[in-house]
Amino acid sequence: MNEWGNAALRLEDYQDLHRASIAEPERFWLQEAARIDWSQAPTRGLDFSRPPFARWFPDGMTNLCANAVDRWAARRPEDPALIAVSTETDTERTYSFAELLAQTTAWAAAFRSLGVGVGDRVLIYMPMIAEAVFAMLACARIGAVHTVVFGGFASGALAARIDDAAPKVIVAADAGSRMGRIIPYKPLLDEALGMADHRPHKVLMVDRGLAPIHWAHHDIDARALVEANRHVEVAPVDLPSSHPSYILYTSGTTGKPKGVQRDTGGYAVALAASMEHIFFGQPGGVFFATSDIGWVVGHSYIVYGPLIAGMATILYEGAPTRPDPGVFWRLVERHRVRAMFTAPTALRLLKKEDPRHLTGYDRSSLKALFVAGEPLDEPTSRWIADSLGVPILDNYWQTETGWPILTLCRGLTDAPVKPGSPGLPVYGFDVQLVDEASGEPVPAGDKGVVAIAAPLPPGCLTTIWNDDARFVRTYFQSIPGKMLYSTFDWGVQDEEGYTFILGRTDDVINVAGHRLGTREIEEAVTTHPAVADAAVVGVHDEIKGQTPVAFVVLKDASRAGEALSQEIIQAVAREIGALAKPSSVNFVPALPKTRSGKVLRRALQAIWEGRDPGDLTTIDDETALKAVLALRRAAAKD
Ligand code: AMP
Repeated sequence: MNEWGNAALRLEDYQDLHRASIAEPERFWLQEAARIDWSQAPTRGLDFSRPPFARWFPDGMTNLCANAVDRWAARRPEDPALIAVSTETDTERTYSFAELLAQTTAWAAAFRSLGVGVGDRVLIYMPMIAEAVFAMLACARIGAVHTVVFGGFASGALAARIDDAAPKVIVAADAGSRMGRIIPYKPLLDEALGMADHRPHKVLMVDRGLAPIHWAHHDIDARALVEANRHVEVAPVDLPSSHPSYILYTSGTTGKPKGVQRDTGGYAVALAASMEHIFFGQPGGVFFATSDIGWVVGHSYIVYGPLIAGMATILYEGAPTRPDPGVFWRLVERHRVRAMFTAPTALRLLKKEDPRHLTGYDRSSLKALFVAGEPLDEPTSRWIADSLGVPILDNYWQTETGWPILTLCRGLTDAPVKPGSPGLPVYGFDVQLVDEASGEPVPAGDKGVVAIAAPLPPGCLTTIWNDDARFVRTYFQSIPGKMLYSTFDWGVQDEEGYTFILGRTDDVINVAGHRLGTREIEEAVTTHPAVADAAVVGVHDEIKGQTPVAFVVLKDASRAGEALSQEIIQAVAREIGALAKPSSVNFVPALPKTRSGKVLRRALQAIWEGRDPGDLTTIDDETALKAVLALRRAAAKD
């Protein structure tokens, strides 16, 4: 037993357990399936008759909302379930499991009254308020498929998601708030609806009283509709395990975002198991993930994971440093938080502040801090470990997988931490490091693509929404010859299986833990009429990990200047959102390209980071590269 009362396997024993989970996946996962409630318990673990499509628990029937809410409302109705805190509006409200059930049922009835049924999509474009969680759980209750769009996305990104998901209903709010600044959502939504081809049946508006709402003919006051449905009984719908629970869009190498589709039963089991083996889940405990419901961490570890484990979850609207940099730790003290989950960027921000903001609070309830989303640098890791005095557990995963691929499963093993590595492959993930060109495994210590042999374990994406072909092509055909899922990350594995992540193999960048496609940003830059051509790369940033930098060729070079640069940055904010804004726009006479016309983004990135751009033998025209070098030298002198 270790200090948390769990079986503490030595490294070799954990490796045995991991091997068994790969060798006999059905056996392993059918055992884990007992962690959730089923209306019809599965007798089969896996249907893999159509690889790479994996259907977990094919004859099981269940409901995500019943597992997250009803079963705890029955057993511990008065326990806190959702603690909605906003330091933006200075409000805090705790909903017990009984109250969460009542709210979710009323929202489910409201959706039904609008004709939303099993398989219909509901798009949720919301700030971090309790209604967003009610809406998500209500969808799960009636078998509707939610697609949450991060509130920081602007109209162009929102329109693309509306068209792809074709929602019957959209749920939005009047406004969000960031660092005390009100951000009205309704004008962005109306603009997006003007751009999109798809028309939703209705738009449900939650009026927080932060910004005036311009009501359109299809808009309905959400709170009034929910009140009118307050006492309508809506039982959770029994759904096949493979029924899609949600779509979550993520960036790739093309301009078009991919709708990651998740199932119901596999997801519930994967989360329940992860709460036990990885995240210190304990019914009655409090979990605090500082992400946003618009991202995968928000889906898995603000909403579904903690609730499935019978924990209260903190939904936090606010920044890490406002009203002061002690706000996270004040919440830990106030709510006796057991486990916390954040991103390295937030820690790097806090590291710059007075240490008294951290030491001034009682953090004795905290058992561990989990970090993910981007590489955890060693100085930050050491600083936070020394300051908090609890284990800092890095976990590596992706929107696609829904839960960790690599970490040290502290509920299972005491295998030691190795600095710089998130840890070992998690049970169920057959992680292999392979040669990019041949698909053959590389020897320990050599760099390779981090790949996962099919079938992907429960909880991972089951396909791309409406596009099975893209799912197969993108993830399973980029590595030749084998049925391997590519993470599109480089890595290196040591003899014991500890894996170190070395960065992306594609043109995806990671800004403050948020994944952005450079292609998407380039498309936003080129919406400006003065722009002829553009390349965007991610360059190192002290706080955010990476930041986008744009290289722009103008139709009329004489227009180059600060004013135009600002206009281009605003075009990106308008199309995608403030999070994608380039930190600088550099005007160049031409982009460095290969003879076949491919932009040499890696070379641009290397030059901008002051590194050697490497092999440039494929370059078409050296003057373009020289111009970038000259710009860099000039910028470095400023
Ligand atoms: P997202 O789908 O937005 O969560 O982004 C996933 C990507 O973020 C991964 O493919 C990695 O490139 C990066 N990433 C996530 N977690 C980690 C981690 N713990 N260490 C290093 N990189 C990470």
